[in-house]
Amino acid sequence: MRMAGVWRSAVGAARLALPVDCPGCDAPDERWCEECRAPWWEEPVRCETSAARLEVLDPPLPAWSITVLEGSAHGTVSAWKDGGRRDLDRDLTAAMRRAAAVVAAALAAACGEVDVVPCPARAAHTRRRGADLPGLLARGAAAGLRDAGVSASPRSLLRPARGRSRGAGDRGRWRGEAPVALAAVRGPMRPVLLVDDVVTTGATLARAAQALQAGPAVPVGALLLAVAPGVHSRQGSALL
Ligand SMILES: [Zn+2]
Repeated sequence: MRMAGVWRSAVGAARLALPVDCPGCDAPDERWCEECRAPWWEEPVRCETSAARLEVLDPPLPAWSITVLEGSAHGTVSAWKDGGRRDLDRDLTAAMRRAAAVVAAALAAACGEVDVVPCPARAAHTRRRGADLPGLLARGAAAGLRDAGVSASPRSLLRPARGRSRGAGDRGRWRGEAPVALAAVRGPMRPVLLVDDVVTTGATLARAAQALQAGPAVPVGALLLAVAPGVHSRQGSALL
């Protein structure tokens, strides 16, 4: 009886310590179920036509997204960003790595060496989460480019501008994509792959690209985890 009690206590403690519900569909006792995980291993698709604010960029910025921010993908991103699911860091970083390896074919023709630059999270959000999520994605993307033979490294060329925050907290930023001012920091001229978690209007991404263009870098593409539902192309090899 004593051992059974100890075992029950251990199981209870493990259930408390470990997340057991799928972030995509709330299935109990599933860290991340097979069905909700599957879309993250699809090849990324071009998505810049979904984000109207990207149209201000000249030259246009090709953007790729792994999945669409709806259904289980929305739940997964929400749990990762706002639900404390730090166990998903490694999964989504790995998804970014695989996606970057696909995108590498399009970038390699234009540039031999690429800096992977995250759109930065606000310092308060990074502290609250206990992790620099855009930084994690950038490291994953750089690893994916290197897997495909492109010389790449993550580099923090952008930072949130100081001053009044115009967003409605982090949820506002990623759902409504409230404008976040960005400022480029100095560095040598290099091609840049921008990385962010989600894109809705493209306003944040456009600001980031413009800040880099005004500084010492040439944005050559953007890679996102997820794009808000809208018009996007999934045309096989045309995605490159
Ligand atoms: Zn699920």
